[in-house]
This record gives sequence, structure tokens and C-alpha cells, in this order.
Amino acid sequence: MTLQFLEPVAPGNFVSWPHVYVRYSLTVASLLTLEEAQERVLRAARPLPSERIPVANAAGRVSAEEARAQVDLPPFASSAMDGFAVRTADLPGELQIAGESAAGRPLEARLEPGCAVSISTGAVVPEGADAVVPIERVVIQDNRVEIPHPAEPGAHVRPRGGDVAAGEVVVSTGTRLTPVRLAAAAACGVGELSCVRRPRVAVLATGSELVDPGAPLGPGQIYETNSLMLSSALAAAGADVVVEPRVEDDEQELKAALERGLAADVLVTSGGVSVGEHDLVRAAERELGVEEVFWRVSIKPGKPVSFGVRRDTLVFGLPGNPVSALVGCELFVKPGLRALQGLPDPLPRFEPGQLAAGLRRNEERDEFVRARSRVDGDVVVLEPVTGQESHMIVRSAAADALVHIPRGNGELAAGSSVRWLRIGGV
Ligand code: AMP
Ligand code: MG
Repeated sequence: MTLQFLEPVAPGNFVSWPHVYVRYSLTVASLLTLEEAQERVLRAARPLPSERIPVANAAGRVSAEEARAQVDLPPFASSAMDGFAVRTADLPGELQIAGESAAGRPLEARLEPGCAVSISTGAVVPEGADAVVPIERVVIQDNRVEIPHPAEPGAHVRPRGGDVAAGEVVVSTGTRLTPVRLAAAAACGVGELSCVRRPRVAVLATGSELVDPGAPLGPGQIYETNSLMLSSALAAAGADVVVEPRVEDDEQELKAALERGLAADVLVTSGGVSVGEHDLVRAAERELGVEEVFWRVSIKPGKPVSFGVRRDTLVFGLPGNPVSALVGCELFVKPGLRALQGLPDPLPRFEPGQLAAGLRRNEERDEFVRARSRVDGDVVVLEPVTGQESHMIVRSAAADALVHIPRGNGELAAGSSVRWLRIGGV
């Protein structure tokens, strides 16, 4: 059966705007594919300007320029062990202890033949020495050390520049500044990094039925879930998030809140983008000058998702059902945020896995099934959780995977290869 009704057509979607109403049908052909919708988001999401910031503030940012080592690393030949710096030509033998080189306190003398210098890990290997013998392999008596075995030149010595040479790139452009990359920059003397500005994201929940968690629930009310979920997910994805006070399904209230949210780089709303009488978000946005790029994508859950732009602001309208909002956030909002931050591969990174149970495919829409993952030998097995409806956020919370079931006919049998996206977790 094809259900038909009248609805406005947005620019980029089908015909032209303003005020074109066409007969429109709920069929496959009328929906944008996931790939096409994601491509449209990425086309609109250009990297934000950059700023130079101290490395100490750069955790989680994305680099906007490459950074080069300011020094050789290590900056001097240093010892890898606690022991004695020696001349290998003197070994085996009994050597006179001529002094100490400790970390941060180099010995200002050259190592003479027949001598050894007591040395600690990370200390400068004195000139003239060509190896370090670990303390466990020597016998110390008064100011003499007996070394019973020969040593290879270079043994336990970290050569100057062995990790990286001054001037080499240590942080490339468009990379997330993970702890290890920050450590690399710091180790090479980089004090500041050029980073893409953190995207400012406004999150706005809409719906007259919503109540804050903790408050008493009146008739017909439910607890507001999405702004908390979305704001924490987007903050973890690198955004500076402001949660706008939630609004009822009231045109004036909604427009005022949307206008505030449109000052951000990204506005993410939840609820009110479907076809009900109280779904006012898209119309209100249109009146505020948002150009709709798409509405409705052939995915399940999350079909009524909308996306538009106003000047430089990206505007995502996620459906209100919490699982739909979650899926829309993973598939559209987070990729958009990554693109704004200048990451080169902003689309979600799916991993290969295997279905634990057979699943019937949806003929029209790509499904994203919540599942629990477990490792079995060298494959990840995905067990769909019971309760796959889009309001069932508690069932979803038991899952750690979104499994992509491409649209098509028939069933995907147990053991079928699928791709999946990690959700939640650390
Ligand atoms: P809507 O997209 O506005 O039609 O809402 C779809 C469903 O999601 C309805 O059952 C709403 O009550 C519910 N819903 C909407 N917004 C939220 C929210 N922020 N938190 C929890 N449920 C919501
Ligand atoms: Mg609603």
C-alpha cells in the first residue's frame, strides 16, 4: 500500500521552494539513502577556523597545522639502564670509578681509558664512553668496578635523535590530539599547537510532554532524555555544548529557542520533525531562514531526521524517540562534527562482525540493530538485544553495538558477516 498525503517540499530534496506542495508518497523512492544524506552533511560541514593554544589545553582537539620537533629526541646520547658507562675496548676488566652522571646532572668530564662512570637511566653518556653495562652485571669494590664480560659498542645507549630528529613532523595536520600525540609534541619541545576551534553546539529538546528527571511525573508526561544523551555524546566528540532550556510544542516558544540555538556552529534539536500536527520544528526553522538540505532518510530507526543550514550553522533535527535520536547522532551529527573539526575521515568507522542470530531484512530501510558484542576467537559476535523499538532506550543501554542491516529481501542468517559501530563504552 502506498500512503499519500500533502507536504511541503524543501530545497535540495526534490523540487523547489518556497511554497511548493506536491503529492508525496511514503515509498522507498521518496527517501534519501543513508550514504546520500551523509554526503550532504559532509558537503555542508567545512572546517572551522584555527587558533594557537598551549599543548596543555589541546587534549581532544584536532590539529590544524603540522608541528615539528624543536629538538632531537633524545636530545643527547643517554643511558637506557642504571649501571656504568664504559669504553668497550676496556672490557672485560676492572675499571676505576671516575665519577657519576645522574639524570639532569651530567658529568662534565671525558671518560678516560681504564675508567668507568656510574650512570643512571636517562643520564648523559659521557664523551669517550660507547656502552653502558647494567649494574646487575658488575661487581663493585670501593672505587673500582669489575666487569667480567665484553659489551657491544652502543649497548644500552639511546643515541641522540634516535626517536626523531629536530625539524621532523611530530603532529600532522588533521589528527585528533590523543594523549600519546600530545606526549610526542611535548617531548619534542612543542609548546603550542595550532588547533581547529572547538565546535559550539546547541542542544534543544522539544515536546510538551517532557519533564526533567527527578521531578514528579504528571499525566501523559515522560522524562526528558535526549538533551542529556546528546550533550554528553557531543561533548565527548569534541564539542563545546550548551543545552538550551527545553521547549513545549508552541510555535513562539520554539522559534525563540531555535533562534538562540542558531547562534552556535551546530544546532541539534530533538522531537517535532515528524508528520504530526505538533511537529513544528522544520516549519519554524524555515521561517527563521534555515534552508533544509534533506528530510527523511531510509534508515530505521531515525527516518524523520532533518538537516539544514543557516549561514554557517548546521542544523540537525533528530526525531524524539531516544533510540532514533541516538542513531541520528551517530550517523549524521557526529560525522558533521568531525568534519567541522577538520578530520579527514569523518564518517563512522564500522568494524566487521558476525550475527549471532538470524534477522529479517527491511525491504525499504537500512536498519541499525542494537546488539551486545563478544569476542569469539578472532571474530566479534553480535547478539541483538530484545526490544528493538525506537522508544526502548533502556534496552538499548544493554547494547554496545549498532549493527548495520542493509535493506533488502529475506533474512540475514545467523553467522552472516555484518558491519557494526561501537556505541557507549569508554
Ligand atoms: P516526536 O519526534 O516529537 O514525534 O517524538 C517521538 C516520541 O519521542 C514521542 O513518544 C515523544 O514523547 C518522545 N520524545 C520526544 N522528545 C523526547 C525527549 N527529549 N526525551 C524522551 N522522549 C522524547
Ligand atoms: Mg513531539
